[in-house]
Amino acid sequence: MALTGLGIFKLTPKKNCKDCGFPTCLAFSMKVASGAVEISKCPHMSKESVEKLAEATAPLMKTITLGKGDTEYKLGGETVLFRHEKTLVNRNRFAVLLSDDIEGSQIDAKIQHIKDVQYVRIGEDMKTEFVALKYVSNKDKYLELIKKVKSSGLKVGYILVCEDAAVMKEALQLVKDENPLAYGANKDNFKEMVDLVKQDNIALGVKAENLEELYNLVEEIQKLGYKNLVLDPGSKSVKQTFENAVQIRRINLQGQDRVFGYPSILFLNELANGDKFQEVTLSTLFTMKYGSILVLSDMDYVRALPLYGIRQNIFTDPQKPMRVEVGVYGINNPDDNSPVMCTVDFALTYFIVSGEIERSKMPVWMVIPDAGGYSVLTSWAAGKFTADVIAGAIKKSGVEEKTKSRTLIIPGKVAVLKGELEDSLPDWNITVGTTEAMYIPKFLKELAAK
Ligand code: SF4
Repeated sequence: MALTGLGIFKLTPKKNCKDCGFPTCLAFSMKVASGAVEISKCPHMSKESVEKLAEATAPLMKTITLGKGDTEYKLGGETVLFRHEKTLVNRNRFAVLLSDDIEGSQIDAKIQHIKDVQYVRIGEDMKTEFVALKYVSNKDKYLELIKKVKSSGLKVGYILVCEDAAVMKEALQLVKDENPLAYGANKDNFKEMVDLVKQDNIALGVKAENLEELYNLVEEIQKLGYKNLVLDPGSKSVKQTFENAVQIRRINLQGQDRVFGYPSILFLNELANGDKFQEVTLSTLFTMKYGSILVLSDMDYVRALPLYGIRQNIFTDPQKPMRVEVGVYGINNPDDNSPVMCTVDFALTYFIVSGEIERSKMPVWMVIPDAGGYSVLTSWAAGKFTADVIAGAIKKSGVEEKTKSRTLIIPGKVAVLKGELEDSLPDWNITVGTTEAMYIPKFLKELAAK
């Protein structure tokens, strides 16, 4: 079936088709053939052809959407096993487990942690994205718990963890408008569970005793015409759970088997058995392979930063350096006498340098120019961190209005720029800083003592 080619004639080389988003039919077809795009994105295909081709060309792994509005998150949709092959598509999400057998005060504390433990790093919001609400034994308390979370002001998506279809039905009534995940379909209840979620197309979490049973169960559910699924590779042991998670992804992407082509949910709170440090260890492991939703017992300051950090590293393009925004950053409450320090916009450099300045407790204005997102020596060698670039940043950033100090500290590795900078910024005292960030606290203290 050839594509109609209607788009080709209307598009200039730099413009993408507003229907399919590609510059040519050929580019679109190649993406369809690789399974990265659905054939139905081209509105010029006949209905029969779409039906014929849809199954054969569907992406190997489905993208499942949970939540809505500000709390909408996409899961799955991956096309490769390793991030060095291609950038991974949808980052994993963190959930905190609340259940009807937890004390009210503990629930309040966990809700408060979700509200408090949030960061923005390199333009990314880092926070807990879901609450997993588990039914243990008391239906009334369970439904109250859901209402309590709903009225708490938390901006999160919902995961209902419940294997009792009757209780799930009532729970769904409370949050079905939030597009939750209904987790708990097993070999005994899957027909009732599918009936509950089908009408509103709510994603269904599927669990089984072992991988073979999970595979058969997914096939059974698919025969009922339902494919909005999230799979639980979990087992009683860490080793088996890890093996299952890897096997599911390999069978799906290497074996090209769409039965396992769904994102996953992992209950690390159970695997870690109440040990929060074990939860951190397991979360790093399953961030890499291959958890889509990682459920923890809490998200406090101990867990948060390492987990958010590793996720940011795994789910960003390794070829594109992470950059901080160009501008002026005040560290340790600088005032109009504080010196100015300049470094590059490569995020790793920025956070190492700013961390050492924080450690020194000395107030500093930090000026970040557009240095291409590389480290100090690389950007200097590439001609992106030159005297002109630094002088331009000082003038444009407005730092001259923030401080009367005219001390500008440059990285020791580009000491060679001092002369040129003295010519470009005659009012400034150009000071060569340290070659390694760890010496910054000592350097700043000695500078202040002069
Ligand atoms: Fe070609 Fe269809 Fe895309 Fe138009 S929408 S450019 S016809 S693939």
